Amino acid sequence: MPTILKQEHTEMQFAINYVNEVFELVQKRNPYESEFHQAVKEVFDSLIPVLARNPIYIEQNILERMVEPERVISFKVPWVDDHGAVKVNRGFRVQFNSAIGPYKGGIRFHPSVNASIVKFLGFEQIFKNSLTGQPIGGGKGGSDFDPKGKSDGEIMRFTQSFMSELSKYIGPDVDVPAGDIGVGAREIGFMFGQYKKIRGGYVAGVLTGKGLQYGGSLGRTEATGYGTVYFVEEMLKDKGLSFKGRTVVVSGSGNVSIYAIEKAQQLGAKVVACSDSSGYIYDKQGINLETVKHLKEVEKKRIRDYVNKHPHAQYFEGCQGIWSIPCEIALPCATQNEIDEISANMLVSNGVVAIGEGANMPSTLDAMRVFLDRKILFGPAKAVNAGGVAVSALEMAQNSMRLSWTFEEVDAKLQEIMKNIYRNSMNAALEYEAVDNLVVGANIAGFKKVADAMIAQGVV
Ligand code: NAP
Repeated sequence: MPTILKQEHTEMQFAINYVNEVFELVQKRNPYESEFHQAVKEVFDSLIPVLARNPIYIEQNILERMVEPERVISFKVPWVDDHGAVKVNRGFRVQFNSAIGPYKGGIRFHPSVNASIVKFLGFEQIFKNSLTGQPIGGGKGGSDFDPKGKSDGEIMRFTQSFMSELSKYIGPDVDVPAGDIGVGAREIGFMFGQYKKIRGGYVAGVLTGKGLQYGGSLGRTEATGYGTVYFVEEMLKDKGLSFKGRTVVVSGSGNVSIYAIEKAQQLGAKVVACSDSSGYIYDKQGINLETVKHLKEVEKKRIRDYVNKHPHAQYFEGCQGIWSIPCEIALPCATQNEIDEISANMLVSNGVVAIGEGANMPSTLDAMRVFLDRKILFGPAKAVNAGGVAVSALEMAQNSMRLSWTFEEVDAKLQEIMKNIYRNSMNAALEYEAVDNLVVGANIAGFKKVADAMIAQGVV
């Protein structure tokens, strides 16, 4: 073997050994946290060529420093339901990495929330936030509280109790939470009010996703869904394709899904299916978004009720079947691990051309491998759904400057940010000989800035 190749081989082997060693440590130190392991594995596998080419990251033990959150806060959330019964939930905030800015990431209210879920989301958030090009670090929080079926009064009392504890750890220059699954405008409003009461005054920059009347940004509600479609549009454009006339399947029917459907339809696509955690609807004529919005945002009903208004459409119980519907573009926008290997193979054999992950980690590692091996255009979550946090950072900027941009101004900035994320991820993939692999590209592009900032700031 020529010396130069031999040297590369040795460096590569050294990087592989380092990655394996740290990953074993992650599994040992964080037992039973399978979602966290999955998120770490995906990033680590992508970083091997970067570590081989830049041994300083190994010398500085950057991976081990990155997988350990700067702070993990777990707290009790007691509250009283409408019948006077005292309930207790568990709250979390993981302040993962502040190398490039204050911790930033949403709050999730869902019964499945535990340390593993919050840590996987917080870890992903580090790289996602770095990719946006804005000065924001990574964090995430939540509670195992289930908002489904709760009255407004119960939601308010729970949320106030949650914020009473969380308020000790957040602030506009320290940690700025936002919404996520189960946390929308209503919950952010209650949290903001409680923070204000505790602190004795209005602090605009402590939360994002606020209502427009009290410091929110136009375009934040739409940002993640629109951003998802803007990113996929870039992937398609690069291959001479577009959304126009394409059949699209979108999972979920929450904030991200609704605005992904809206933008895809505006670009001429026909969206034929969406879902909730009970089942999915298939409307061959194309989904009527006004009906979905009214059902989910106003009436707070289930997606199955869609067929009462559109009897030609079909409703199927269970979520997994949505991936058996033939489509050219699939946008998983519901939750983690919703596409497994079987669903991925089904999508591929039905002719899918592009996948854009609107949700966080919606594809299992095996599903992702299917898409990459079969050369399907694949946009990974930390790049595709970064539009939400990017506009949150724009909300922070507007709050600091005490001004409000128009919807058009915010939307134009969002489009520019999504284009840059796509371009930077593609370039990073190219630089490390993983052409067109956006998983590798996004991980590398997100990682380098954070790693370099950590090194510049010393061992802290
Ligand atoms: P959301 O408004 O609460 O909506 C979640 C939707 O997914 C609901 O329709 C929910 O149905 C559905 N769902 C949950 N589990 C499901 C399953 N197993 N199969 C099918 N549908 C299921 O939450 P969101 O804000 O849209 O967030 C969705 C995803 O995007 C999450 O992964 C989140 O982390 C990610 N994300 C969100 C943002 C943001 O700005 N909101 C930003 C970046 C990433 P039910 O109503 O039945 O529960």
